[in-house]
Amino acid sequence: MEQLHTSLAVEKAAQSKIDQVDFSKLVFGKNFTDHMFICEYKDGKWQQPRVVPYQPITLDPSAKVFHYGQAVFEGMKAYKDANDDIFLFRPEENFNRINKSSERLAMPAFPKDYFFEGLTTLLKLDKEWIKKGNGNSLYIRPFVIATESGVMASPSMEYTFMIICSPVQSYYGGEVKVKIADYYSRAANGGFGAAKAAGNYAGQFYPTKLANEEGYQQIIWTDDATHEYLEEAGTMNIFFRINDTLLTCPTSDRILDGVTRKSVIAMAQHMGIDVEVRPIKVSELVEAANNGSLKEMFGSGTAAVISPISGFANKDQFWELPKQESPMAQQIKQAIVSLQYNETEDPFGWRVKV
Ligand code: PMP
Repeated sequence: MEQLHTSLAVEKAAQSKIDQVDFSKLVFGKNFTDHMFICEYKDGKWQQPRVVPYQPITLDPSAKVFHYGQAVFEGMKAYKDANDDIFLFRPEENFNRINKSSERLAMPAFPKDYFFEGLTTLLKLDKEWIKKGNGNSLYIRPFVIATESGVMASPSMEYTFMIICSPVQSYYGGEVKVKIADYYSRAANGGFGAAKAAGNYAGQFYPTKLANEEGYQQIIWTDDATHEYLEEAGTMNIFFRINDTLLTCPTSDRILDGVTRKSVIAMAQHMGIDVEVRPIKVSELVEAANNGSLKEMFGSGTAAVISPISGFANKDQFWELPKQESPMAQQIKQAIVSLQYNETEDPFGWRVKV
């Protein structure tokens, strides 16, 4: 998109809220930093981008986002190394993906220079909120909402793009047991599963609540047409280790093209692990679990990097995965995390200094 560069306006918070936050007891995504980035779209173009004190926004009750869910978002993180330098991990991927999601929801693309200038300014202003040490990071949530008032079911002519930031520790604690979907679907062929759109998440809450009541933390979604192929989890892509091969399914218009997924594939190959990207049947997983060749399962996503899965249910049967002495999941996670925190060389060029 061609747009004249307008320099970013910055209004600093009069006082920081950082002293009110207990960084040893953070609940994921509950606390937000002192500033936020905001930019409005109207009259066919993005207006003056601004960094302002974190604050509520006011919308007309008829704003289209409330009625038609025209909204997309991203999830990324900033890390601090031992020298207090701040790094992002493959941020262009998130920038490209939010515009791809926007396109699918008939929303305008956001200019790249606004995105990166806004994000780096925000991170520099709120750098005290990024704590050193493994597991500590700043979760960054860019999002776009349809703000035009009026309940006609058509694309909004006005939008707000924002970035808010939340200090976090690691995302999941404890065991993750999953249930394979055999009735509900997350996404459909030709649908918008590959977009990071608000409605994709709202639609998962109910089936996930039912799974939670049965004792499972997550659902592994299967293809909507047959429920025969394994696809992804609620906020994670999914990997299986059969013998010493790592398997994951290809992305499609039903599956989010995860940044961590891509990174796990590349890192595993770099480590000499055999990786296969191909459709994986539920029946193949069940067979591998029965004959002992299924060694590990894990999810990949920005929030936790890798979440090991301890067992899975398919219909009425449950399989507990064997404990590994040196899990592949842990080795790959360690390699990616060390790269994110600037503890190792980055042969891929993934780490970006702020
Ligand atoms: N699938 C879905 C549905 C997700 O919401 C996410 C989280 N963004 C992922 C996979 C993992 O993507 P990423 O590695 O880019 O965080």
